[in-house]
Amino acid sequence: MAEVLKGVPVAASLTEELKARCERLKALGIIPTLSMLRVGEKPGDIAYETGALKRCEKIGIAVNKIILPADSSADEITGRICEVNTDESIHGLLMFRPLDDKVAERSACELLESSKDVDCMTDSSLSGVFTGSGTGFPPCTAQACIELLDFYGVDVTGKNVAVIGRSLVIGRPVSMLLMKNNATVTICHSKTHNLPEICRNADILIAAIGRAKFIGADYVSEGQTVIDVGINMDDDGKLCGDVDYDSVEPIVRAITPVPGGVGAVTTAVLAKHVIESAERVLSS
Ligand code: NAP
Repeated sequence: MAEVLKGVPVAASLTEELKARCERLKALGIIPTLSMLRVGEKPGDIAYETGALKRCEKIGIAVNKIILPADSSADEITGRICEVNTDESIHGLLMFRPLDDKVAERSACELLESSKDVDCMTDSSLSGVFTGSGTGFPPCTAQACIELLDFYGVDVTGKNVAVIGRSLVIGRPVSMLLMKNNATVTICHSKTHNLPEICRNADILIAAIGRAKFIGADYVSEGQTVIDVGINMDDDGKLCGDVDYDSVEPIVRAITPVPGGVGAVTTAVLAKHVIESAERVLSS
């Protein structure tokens, strides 16, 4: 049986560490504060907002919610970003993406002050992830994969890692973070030839595809660690990952569940970025 790499203990450990850092900041007169900007009432956004609120509450981070109607104009959305930029009491902004209005999304992403970009919305933060300069913060989900591997003692140094997915939110940034940690990374996508073979030959497999139970037994081999980033609904309307857990779990060495894997760590990483942003203000 595979080791199940659950996200809850990772998030709990991060939460304890962050509580102490938050208390230290408060003792110095700084209240770490996250602003969350939601446009519309998408159930996925609301679910993530609720999880992030609970996590921040546990740690002691203040949250300022901005909720705009679904038909808000680009000006209304960017106006709120400008307010966040100039409000010194706010240390980070999470804007739920994607927005239906792509023009508004692009403008908002361009406008946000990079020091408050705790989920890697801006090109400046992305460039920090790609150059490894340490400026900005990586996307929370990509960083959550790294936290999970670290917590369970999976050393990626010199390992062959296959990442399936090349989005700017997960696939590409997680590949850069893994490479920074000295992994040898193969980035795969929908045009990749021989995908099952590439996956089987990897030591670590990271699935960020967005297709329910896509990775079956023919994509994996003994001894592998499988990280499933996917959040999908199966044919019965049940939450599932990109990996067909029941077929893959008996073969591999370790695997993350869905739900309860990477997703459970993401809000803790968001909180970590807010605390770090507040600490950077202190040291600047
Ligand atoms: P995305 O932007 O749609 O990217 C999906 C990637 O998968 C693309 O690069 C695509 O390749 C590739 N792909 C699609 N079909 C493929 C196939 N048949 N073979 C190989 N590659 C294929 O999705 P995303 O935003 O990165 O999200 C990926 C998954 O993570 C989704 O299930 C999403 O819900 C989930 N997610 C989870 C969290 C969390 O906290 N756990 C957070 C955010 C998202 P091309 O580039 O060639 O099209």
